[in-house]
Amino acid sequence: MSNVPRKIYGIDLGTTYSAIAFIDEYDKAQIITNSDNERITPSVVFFESEENVIVGKIAKESAKTDPSEVVDFVKRQMSDKEWSFSAKGKSYKPEEISALILRRLAGDAVKTGEHDVKDVVITCPAYFGDLERERTRTAGELAGLNVIAIVDEPVAAAINYGLNVEGSKGKNVIVYDLGGGTFDVTVVKIGSDPKKNEISIVCTEGNHQLGGKDWDDRIVQHYVAEFQSQTGSSADILSDSETAYDLRFNAETDKKTLSNKESIKRKVVFEGEKAVVELTQEKFGELTADLTEQTLALTDKVLEQAKEKGITKIDAFLLVGGSTRMPQIKVKVTEKYQSSLGIVPVEFDVDEAVAKGAAKAGEINILSDAVKDITGGKEFGNLSEPEQNAALIELVVRTGKTEDEIKAAVSTVLKMVATKSYGIRALKAGQPVIRNLIIKQTPVPTQGSQTFGTAGPNADEIDLVVYVNNETDSDAALDVSEELGGAVFALDGNLPAKAPIEITFELDEQGQLRLTGLDKTHGKVITAEFKSEGVMTAEEKERAKENVDLTIVD
Ligand code: AMP
Repeated sequence: MSNVPRKIYGIDLGTTYSAIAFIDEYDKAQIITNSDNERITPSVVFFESEENVIVGKIAKESAKTDPSEVVDFVKRQMSDKEWSFSAKGKSYKPEEISALILRRLAGDAVKTGEHDVKDVVITCPAYFGDLERERTRTAGELAGLNVIAIVDEPVAAAINYGLNVEGSKGKNVIVYDLGGGTFDVTVVKIGSDPKKNEISIVCTEGNHQLGGKDWDDRIVQHYVAEFQSQTGSSADILSDSETAYDLRFNAETDKKTLSNKESIKRKVVFEGEKAVVELTQEKFGELTADLTEQTLALTDKVLEQAKEKGITKIDAFLLVGGSTRMPQIKVKVTEKYQSSLGIVPVEFDVDEAVAKGAAKAGEINILSDAVKDITGGKEFGNLSEPEQNAALIELVVRTGKTEDEIKAAVSTVLKMVATKSYGIRALKAGQPVIRNLIIKQTPVPTQGSQTFGTAGPNADEIDLVVYVNNETDSDAALDVSEELGGAVFALDGNLPAKAPIEITFELDEQGQLRLTGLDKTHGKVITAEFKSEGVMTAEEKERAKENVDLTIVD
């Protein structure tokens, strides 16, 4: 048994890089460096043999020599029910690959001798729906971790901001998060009540196919075009996997250099021919202007939505995510929003805000549970002042933290919104539409109901298909909606045709969807188990645990 006190760890499971953090004895969130002595670990897995995998920096480098055995950007596949990666005769789903990344992060922390990583909070992009969140949770379980909560990345960044930055109370903050593979932009309201730390998501938008990798790809395309124009060759140099790897690897390095230097030169060699390509910051900005523009359009959209919800003033603009280091991002975002919002966008703990905020979210969770434990299930905010004081004294003894630290954590209230709309197929003027029962950007927990008539007499079940979309109206077109999964409601079999059945969708703070039905004729509640298609069953999880039972080697 370890005598290390039980802690909760925050994990930023990123598309390109991941990080793990904990709360130290001074109540500060700290990143744990990995066994390569780095604060972030590439989210890359190399299947070295049937028994061994390598995760991180060496895996990333191995893509040059063993490209077919290396997998990266797996977070972009979380929504793809069909996707899998095959290596060494086995096939791996996104959550299995993610589990290996989580095992490396947790394992490295344990190796320091100062941590025993069991309970974790894992972050995910705000716009992840039920399926992707469940898969993220499954990844944690497969890694042998106890997933206390899945927290939205912008919420984690806002917690890190709200609890650490003086004078953040009462502020409306926009978090612009451009990572390696995903972009999201979120308006967060930090409450002004001095008695509690209320952090509420107002609205959020994102694109999970837009991130630093797309900027790298533009550099690669530029190198190829310049090579062809300088040498007169029309060879498809990317068809050679080693050259393609080199170009992609160098493109990321050059991109980072261009964040500090006006221009770089890159030698491109293929089949004995050579070109020396110069790339300036300005040219790089031009090559990627449309990508930057996409992030600005989503930022406009989220600001518009915030305005509709009564947020007319934004007080802080936070740039989060490694890709916000690119000068063209800062320049364009500043150009556009400095005058319109009257604030200067600032970099905010770019690589670490999310993992640190997740660790803080974990601490809030554990201390809030302890309050419930002490008070027989009550929340801190609902206690009388003497009860609050008694609970605080008890917690000081239990945790060794100060009263102020505990108070700041247990009086934190997080309020999220639905990040997708959830609906069912209905007919509108004879045309099929998706009737949304839960509408994106509604504060959670939330629920929505709709009454339907049974099709024919004596039906013994209703087979319901749940759809998901990004529309904010009550009706969405079929072609912008995706099937999420199904649920079967058992009926008594003695109802007439068109008997009313009320279907209710409930979405909780964790983004989990539950479905219930009401047979209005008999006043009988009918339940049905709903699971997003693509989420592993208990048996599949057991098999997957064996599948990922590989040795992670340094
Ligand atoms: P994140 O997902 O927040 O860890 O961001 C990772 C992305 O940030 C990757 O695409 C990196 O290439 C990119 N990145 C990291 N440092 C820099 C830098 N100095 N300049 C430009 N991009 C960077």
